[in-house]
Amino acid sequence: MKMKFKKYLAPAIIITTLAILIGCTTNTLTHRSQLSLVSDDEVMSTSATQYKQFISTNKVVPIRGGNKDAAIVNKVSNKIITAVKQYYADLGRTSELDGYAWEINTVQSSEANAWCMPGGKIVVYTGILPITQNEASLAVVIGHEVTHALAKHGKERMSQGLIQQFGGQALSIALANKPQETQQLFGTAYGLGTQYGIMLPFSRNDEYEADKYGLIFTALAGYDPHEAINFWHRMEQFAGSQKPPEFLSTHPSDENRIAQLQSVMDETVAKYYHPQH
Ligand SMILES: [Zn+2]
Repeated sequence: MKMKFKKYLAPAIIITTLAILIGCTTNTLTHRSQLSLVSDDEVMSTSATQYKQFISTNKVVPIRGGNKDAAIVNKVSNKIITAVKQYYADLGRTSELDGYAWEINTVQSSEANAWCMPGGKIVVYTGILPITQNEASLAVVIGHEVTHALAKHGKERMSQGLIQQFGGQALSIALANKPQETQQLFGTAYGLGTQYGIMLPFSRNDEYEADKYGLIFTALAGYDPHEAINFWHRMEQFAGSQKPPEFLSTHPSDENRIAQLQSVMDETVAKYYHPQH
């Protein structure tokens, strides 16, 4: 039995190790090495297609016409995007954002949610605005979501999905650029497809990274990062309401999250927050 087990296990381990060795990249933002078996181009073109479909099948609030919600979402998102560009420029890595075609849309919905797909495709649902209540809190949310895209958490999950689903075939599929498989993986990673806008929860570590760098972008955008603590406390209060925010189902708010935010607060404020008087 032991021999048989080894016989089948060994090639799998070799192939998986090979895949990991070949398909690892270090993320510019998090400095973390990530499994990367699908290309940025593939992920971004799939994301652009999915985003377009989502936008065409949901009630988008036009920015023209003076809608207050769309105006505030646009204003805060643009400030976060400028902060991101500034952060990457300071690192000397502006070219990293070359493939980004940023888009901002406000969707009329009672859902309290927001997300950002790869390549900078932002959606904020009007239902989250009564919880964010102010620009700084909205910046916290958008900064967090944009970080998921920049940290390539979805792409990492797609790559892990490749290994899980296809095992030894992972490399050949990944390298063959098969759009059909890429689309399926994207759907699995993001939970899109049948139910648009329902994002799957990220891992605890991904959440921590999104909180940490989201806070930096909030500060760089000129908003007080301390507002993040108030926002998550408000989220907790809404958790007990009749209709808990959708954002909470993918972003559990607990003392752990708040404690981790507190642990990076002073450094973030000192290094990145320069309020304009
Ligand atoms: Zn998140």
